[in-house]
Amino acid sequence: MFNIRNGLKNRSDFIGLFANKNGFRSYGSNISLPRQADVVVIGGGIAGCSAFYQLTKRGIKPILVEGNKLTNGSTWHSGGLIWSLRPNDTDTELLRRTKEIIRDLEKESGESLGFINNGGIFIARTAERLEEYKRLHTLGHYFNVHSRLLSPKEAQQICPILDPKAFYGALYSPPDGYIDPTLYCNALIKAAVANGGQVFENTRVTKIHTEEAIQGLKKIVGVETVNGTIKTGRVVNAAGAWGRKVANMVGIEIPTTPIKHCYVITNNVEGAKDCTSIRCHDSSLYFRPQGDSILFGGYEANPDILKEVPDDFNFSLFEFDKSKFEPLWNNAVNLCPVLETAGIKSDVCGPETFTPDHKPVLGEDPIVVGMYYSVGYNSLGVMLSGGCSEQLSYWITEGRPNLDMHAYDIRRFSQRQKPDRAWVTETTHESYSKTYSIVYPHDQRLSGRNFRIDPFHEHLVANGAVMEEALGWERPAYFITDDRTAPVRGYDWYGNYDHVRNTDQRYEKELEKDLTLDFSKNHDLIKGEALATRTNVTLFNLSCYTKMYLTGPDAEQAADWLFTTNLSQQPGKVSYTLSLNSKGGIESDVTVTTLEEGGGTLVGPILKGKGYYIVAGGQSGYQTKSHLRKQLYKKNFKSRISEITERLGILSIQGPKSGELLQSITEYPITDEKFPLGMSHIIKINGHSCRAMRISYVGELGFEIHIPFAHCVATYHKIVEAGRGFDLKHAGFRALDSLSMEKGYHLQNKDIRIDDNPVEAGLERFCRKDGQYQGKSVVEKVKQEGIKKRWCFFTLQDNVALYGFETIWRDDAIVGYLRRGDYGFSLDSPIGIGYVTHPKGKVLEDEFLKTGEYHIEVKDKKYPATLYLRSPFDPTNQRLFGRYENQFEEQSHFED
Ligand SMILES: Cc1cc2nc3c(=O)[nH]c(=O)nc-3n(C[C@H](O)[C@H](O)[C@H](O)COP(=O)(O)OP(=O)(O)OC[C@H]3O[C@@H](n4cnc5c(N)ncnc54)[C@H](O)[C@@H]3O)c2cc1C
Repeated sequence: MFNIRNGLKNRSDFIGLFANKNGFRSYGSNISLPRQADVVVIGGGIAGCSAFYQLTKRGIKPILVEGNKLTNGSTWHSGGLIWSLRPNDTDTELLRRTKEIIRDLEKESGESLGFINNGGIFIARTAERLEEYKRLHTLGHYFNVHSRLLSPKEAQQICPILDPKAFYGALYSPPDGYIDPTLYCNALIKAAVANGGQVFENTRVTKIHTEEAIQGLKKIVGVETVNGTIKTGRVVNAAGAWGRKVANMVGIEIPTTPIKHCYVITNNVEGAKDCTSIRCHDSSLYFRPQGDSILFGGYEANPDILKEVPDDFNFSLFEFDKSKFEPLWNNAVNLCPVLETAGIKSDVCGPETFTPDHKPVLGEDPIVVGMYYSVGYNSLGVMLSGGCSEQLSYWITEGRPNLDMHAYDIRRFSQRQKPDRAWVTETTHESYSKTYSIVYPHDQRLSGRNFRIDPFHEHLVANGAVMEEALGWERPAYFITDDRTAPVRGYDWYGNYDHVRNTDQRYEKELEKDLTLDFSKNHDLIKGEALATRTNVTLFNLSCYTKMYLTGPDAEQAADWLFTTNLSQQPGKVSYTLSLNSKGGIESDVTVTTLEEGGGTLVGPILKGKGYYIVAGGQSGYQTKSHLRKQLYKKNFKSRISEITERLGILSIQGPKSGELLQSITEYPITDEKFPLGMSHIIKINGHSCRAMRISYVGELGFEIHIPFAHCVATYHKIVEAGRGFDLKHAGFRALDSLSMEKGYHLQNKDIRIDDNPVEAGLERFCRKDGQYQGKSVVEKVKQEGIKKRWCFFTLQDNVALYGFETIWRDDAIVGYLRRGDYGFSLDSPIGIGYVTHPKGKVLEDEFLKTGEYHIEVKDKKYPATLYLRSPFDPTNQRLFGRYENQFEEQSHFED
């Protein structure tokens, strides 16, 4: 029976719901607002209180300004659930840190935080879901999060209200629990104030003052509030659902959207008090005990998306729409039949902030120096904000976080995506409604597609391209055959909000083949593309890569500082290089072409002095651009980065026949003498100038052709026509990823991240000995002192699908986890890349890596593995030089 009493609508009704009956003392009412601050934190919810506390731990004396009373936004009515297991490494580590922070804070503040460690059970209603839980369970091993796979009966023994007939299996995570968010904030504030922070309630921020800075950037100079102005160079925007309004104060858009999120509290239920927390992803539900009742919430497919939340929505709730909640209620009764007669005592429907990819928005704004974010917590704010705020405090005090926070970084969205509300709203809807969907490695969103397309797009789709998305760009994932096509259609909101479902389901049907944690049904298609690259010639469209020029009077000096390799090279030479941060962490890897004065074309610009053509990866391109620009700003170089991604397309022809194919369409001599490996030349195809580079990201003889948009289509047709004589095949990014990984090439934000340095990554050879570059002192120090982790390559004999996040065992100890997994079609083996550490934290010696037996644990089962310090595929790079006589040369796994 769906029976709701709709009574509780303000805070006083909730006294007793959480442990804190007294609320907060009033802050800042009798002291005047300081004129100056190291950092001003805007917002006194869990995100603001956590950031405030963490900053005081790093020696900062911040001021927290809250427009109303602390916790009045989304925090006061939060369910407070804290889980431990997540489907990736950073999330899992952040949750682990949150729990440690809670434990330590209790001691430090002398306050109870109301944390109840009742454990948590994830319910699997299908065999496939249990497979996903096995992945979480395996990754948890690395992070020391203990969990146990359970039969339905075993789960019921731990949580008796469950009906074991209603599900297939379960995963039990003893460290889970729930916390009182008000008590948690209370303790954070108490400890932070003791450390020198100051809190001001009823101090709404009305304006943020900025000044113009170099490189087209702005910088924060002050914050205006209803109680006065504070001079500061750093602001943390922790204004939750109002975060966008705060960003708008400096003319910036952020991709956050408030959505109503609800839970209900049942009448008393026998056995409720002793229950674990429950998450049933397949039913889109979460539960926890609330005294003798059950609190349960979930994620509906048609949530109420809000334009904004009123400024005076303090300690307030929305009317609860029981018709929307009814499917969740039915799911809950199905799982716990005892709920049927319990009825509902109260409901909570509050605003929460969601984002396009279900990850918070953190880090420093790429345009406004000093504006930091901690918003968009996607209903995970209580559990994630501890770990996130700790990282944010490093971001603010040391320039960068310690963990790989790329998936949280505001710079994962381009300047095109952030202000486009249609794009933000539909992607956010999809990510909300898929909150509990299985995280498939090759899943693609259906919303926000065809956002940025290049000139090749329609021709490639007509030739069977099945697209995937990167930084808003469409790019081919793989190609289907037999004249079939699968274009991406407009977002149909899955038929919600009275939208009509698309009748053309071809793309969705294609995607379904990838919705597996086993080998994709497209495995053989991708194999065909990969092997055609190794044995013949294929055509890739790399136009989504970010393309930039570095120019200006200080360009040479700037390039010297930004990049690890020596770029004082002959004009036209293309180098693979890294750009580091001051901690020696890898911020980006790019190819850089040193330029001489060109003829004034897009591919050969007129330059005064030296210039550089920089090409960064697809997904990470905006992050790279922002990083480079920020360094120019910091060092005050008279040089600039100009992006031309939307003006140049890139076609890449790769494979043994690529040289012959290119020669058939250009008069420029494609010979080792005139066009050696690592060089670029302006050549003419179809009478149009383009820049051809002899480089390869797949380890073959190959050429990238960079073409002005106006000539892209004609050049494409020319290559395809000529390609008929060479049996040219189209290939997509899935084959590219497999081929590059098989060759042992690195992928940014996977195999190389800010928490890796070049020595650990096996990229020391790209770090020059002479001169100065950012991060050099750390690299030199690490070289002397030795490394504590090492990039390694693994193959398996067993035919098992690897996707990353599988654990690496050496003898009886876990020594790492895979960052990336794939299938190597030439090695004919599953392949993985991960970092190996010493189980005792010692410096890694080769001897340690050479000895021992390795296993990769995949979904709770261990498989024997062979470790290599370099990929065994063509380790002497014969193929890059176009030498195909001795195709394979095996490397012993010890050699480097
Ligand atoms: C029904 C529901 C259940 C939830 N359950 C859970 C759960 O079980 N576990 C979990 O981890 N998370 C849960 N969440 C999510 C969690 O509550 C939020 O992610 C978290 O509270 C967000 O905190 P915040 O600090 O970002 O925002 P808020 O708590 O909204 O804080 C923002 C603050 O900024 C202030 N502010 C705004 N504008 C200004 C200005 N101009 N000047 C000064 N101050 C300003 C506001 O007054 C407000 O106090 C739930 C959310 C909802 C709605």
